[in-house]
Amino acid sequence: MTLRETAPKLSPEQYEKNFAEISPRMTPRQAAVEAARCLFCFDAPCTIACPTHIDVPSFIQKISTDNLRGSARVILEANILGHSCGRVCPTEVLCEGACVMHEKEEKPIEIGRLQRYAVDHVLDRNIQLFHAGTPNGKRVALIGSGPASLACAAELAKLGYRATIFDRNELPGGLDTYGIAAYKLRAKDTLREVELVRGLGVEFRQKTTVGSDVTFAQLEKDFDAIFVGVGLGDTGALGVPGEDLPGVLGAMQFIEPTKVRPLAQLTVGRRIACIGAGNTAIDVVTAAKRLGAEIVHLIYRRGEQEMPAFRYEYDLAKLDGVNFHWHARPVRIVGDAGGGVATIECIRTRIEPAAGSKRSQVVDIPGSEFQLDVDMVVRAIGQQPVTAFVRAVQGIAVRENGTIAVSERFQTGNAKYFAAGDCVNGGKEVVDAVAEGMAAARGIDAWLEAPRGKT
Ligand SMILES: Cc1cc2nc3c(=O)[nH]c(=O)nc-3n(C[C@H](O)[C@H](O)[C@H](O)COP(=O)(O)OP(=O)(O)OC[C@H]3O[C@@H](n4cnc5c(N)ncnc54)[C@H](O)[C@@H]3O)c2cc1C
Ligand code: SF4
Repeated sequence: MTLRETAPKLSPEQYEKNFAEISPRMTPRQAAVEAARCLFCFDAPCTIACPTHIDVPSFIQKISTDNLRGSARVILEANILGHSCGRVCPTEVLCEGACVMHEKEEKPIEIGRLQRYAVDHVLDRNIQLFHAGTPNGKRVALIGSGPASLACAAELAKLGYRATIFDRNELPGGLDTYGIAAYKLRAKDTLREVELVRGLGVEFRQKTTVGSDVTFAQLEKDFDAIFVGVGLGDTGALGVPGEDLPGVLGAMQFIEPTKVRPLAQLTVGRRIACIGAGNTAIDVVTAAKRLGAEIVHLIYRRGEQEMPAFRYEYDLAKLDGVNFHWHARPVRIVGDAGGGVATIECIRTRIEPAAGSKRSQVVDIPGSEFQLDVDMVVRAIGQQPVTAFVRAVQGIAVRENGTIAVSERFQTGNAKYFAAGDCVNGGKEVVDAVAEGMAAARGIDAWLEAPRGKT
């Protein structure tokens, strides 16, 4: 990639320091002290707030009696990806957000870190807590190896199904492996968790794209049911001149190498602009800073109050020294003689009520254009759907926004196909994909157990 100026290289140790875990593993003493704070509520609000409804008081109580294996069992029974969820869940708005300690004006229990502490115990020792169910002779194909498919496959394996995952990537794990900020979750840790699923007898066929390497007709012939867990794709286009210049990237193109390549091998611009203000944009700007970029701009067409990113993610970017440009949008990207990016031209915007709509509209302020000197521009304005290929399957309905329409038990309009995760919900969190994947497994089981072929 041609870059006008690159960020100065840091030492390998400095990169590791910059990407060190923001929420490190608890020591046994820290875990014991934190577990002892829990009130073990009846009808615990944290359990209700968790999309996978982990019995939080039960697993914390087991930590307090040093029964870590039992604690991990409680967690993983409800959520096979309890390890990554303990690290990446937006706990502030889920379990910890519901903790009764808030009412007492005390710090909520650190549920996510305690959860990780218990699951680390079994992962570190390669303890396989669950086993495949008695084979029932039925086979299910799963498209995608992200959290939705992993959770669905694990649940099916426990019920006695032969589950085979097809994924186009080299490594399994979906965005857990390729997308989530490296200072929250490293790819090597996701892969440890994938082994829990493989240990249940689930087969992985990586570097296999369904739709080209394998056809739907082949899957329909070889499998009793098919689960679609393809997630979302890379960010959409900005629609401005200059965005085809080298040095203009989609968010996933920018983030992926930070997950699967040695950090010291990565080269980024000295000055970087990121367009968008969701959680993915925050991951881009914080990664850019940690990779050594000196000036990092975040540009958003609406105001600070309307930014979609969670508050604590925003706080992280502020601590990293990112420059925020509210009420501005790019109008063109200008290259230099060497073919790289030189400047991004933006225009200031204002918000106005939109006739006939509850959502306000963004209006340009004429004559307010301004330029920023940059070497790299990253688009983070929302991931695009990758579901066009399933339109080839008769009966599956793809909504206008590209998500797949499903019933309550995650069955599509074609009874043999089920779907869940980001490709159905439009993009939520890992824990939602897990909850939906598990529910889809129960839906598949109910359908295959029912008189064949009836919805
Ligand atoms: C940058 C970023 C940061 C995030 N950070 C967080 C976070 O901190 N916390 C959190 O809880 N959530 C986070 N999320 C959201 C979370 O990653 C997703 O909600 C979750 O991964 C969705 O799981 P999924 O299984 O539906 O899809 P994915 O994880 O996207 O997995 C889909 C898989 O399908 C495969 N696939 C697609 N098409 C085909 C095909 N035709 N054939 C074969 N395989 C195919 C893909 O290769 C991929 O492996 C983040 C998302 C992004 C983009
Ligand atoms: S899975 Fe996530 S939301 Fe549920 S209890 Fe664990 S950390 Fe909280």
